[in-house]
Amino acid sequence: MKTQRATIDRWNPDINVLSRAGGIIQHGGLVAFPTETVYGLGADALNHDAVRKIYEAKGRPSDNPLILHVDSILMASQLVHMNHLAEKLALKFWPAPLTMVLPAKSIIPSITRGGLDTAAVRMPDNPIALGLISSAQTPIAAPSANLSGRPSPTDAESVYADMNGRIDMIIDGGSSNLGIESTVIDLTDPNRILLLRPGGMNRELIEAELGMPLEVPDTQSAKRSPGTRYRHYAPSIPVKIWHTDEKFPECDYDSAGYIGMHEPPVKTAGMLMCSSWDEYSHELFAAFRKFEAKGYLCIITEWPAENSGINEGLRDRIIRAAVD
Ligand code: AMP
Ligand code: MG
Repeated sequence: MKTQRATIDRWNPDINVLSRAGGIIQHGGLVAFPTETVYGLGADALNHDAVRKIYEAKGRPSDNPLILHVDSILMASQLVHMNHLAEKLALKFWPAPLTMVLPAKSIIPSITRGGLDTAAVRMPDNPIALGLISSAQTPIAAPSANLSGRPSPTDAESVYADMNGRIDMIIDGGSSNLGIESTVIDLTDPNRILLLRPGGMNRELIEAELGMPLEVPDTQSAKRSPGTRYRHYAPSIPVKIWHTDEKFPECDYDSAGYIGMHEPPVKTAGMLMCSSWDEYSHELFAAFRKFEAKGYLCIITEWPAENSGINEGLRDRIIRAAVD
C-alpha cells in the first residue's frame, strides 16, 4: 500500500486535503492525523471492516478498545448514554484531552469497543482533527498511530517510521502540543468515577468540576480498561529512572541519553534538558525515539517528583516505559 502524505497548516487548513482525507475515512481507509495529545490512527468508528484494519496496522490486541473521536457533544450523545456528570464535563472542558467511558449504544460495532458494553469518547482540541471528523461525517476511532508497544508518535515523521506502507494517508500538522495521551475516566457509575489512565488533563481540574474525588481503580476494575494491561509507551532499549535525591542510575554513559529538568551529576552522550514539566511531557516520546535511533544502549529519565500539573500523567508514562 502506498501511504500518501500531506502537510496542513493547523491555523489555515487546506480544505482540499481535509476532504480527501475525509473521503478515505468514508471509504473504509486509514488516516493518521494530529491531535493535541499525540498522533491518532483513524478509521470510521461505525465501520467494522475499517476498524479491523486499525488493529492489523498497529498489531494491537483485539480486546484493547479504541477511543471514538467526535466533533460535537451531539455526536457523542449518539454513541453513548451521557449522564449529567458527563454532560457537565463535556460542556465545561471539551474539546480537551479528556476521554469519558460511558455505556455504549448499539450503533457502535463490538470491534470498536473491544467487545465491552461501554465505549470511550473524546472531542480533540485540534482544528485538523475536528476538521477531519466533520469532513468524514462520522466518529473516528483512533488509537495512537504507532506500532503496538512502541512510544506514541508526537510528529508526522514518527508516524511515518512506524506506519509507512500500512495506512492510506498521513496528515502532517506539526508536533502535538501536549505529547502524552488523554486522561481516561469511567463515568459508568456516576456515584463512583474512576481514573482509568492519568494523562494530558489534570485530575484536579476534573475533580473541581465534579465536586468529588476521582477513584483510582483496584486491580479488578483496572481490567475494565484493557489497554492498561499491556506494556506500553516503551522504546526498545532499557529506560532507567533517576530520583534526584538518590544515586544516578548505572549504565554506559557514552551510549546513553538523558531527559529531565535538572542537570545530572554526569554527562551522557545525549542530553535533553527541559525548562518545565510541560516541556518534559512534550519531549518524552520524541526523546525515546531519538535516543533509540542514535543507537544508544539505555535512557535515563528524571522522576517528576513535584505533585503538580501534568506530572501524574508523565510519571505513569515513565513507569510504563521503565517496566521490563
Ligand atoms: P490508546 O488509544 O492506545 O491511547 O488507548 C485508549 C485507552 O482507552 C486504553 O487504555 C483503553 O483501555 C481505554 N479504553 C477505551 N475504551 C474503553 C472502554 N470502553 N472501557 C475502558 N477503557 C477503555
Ligand atoms: Mg496507544
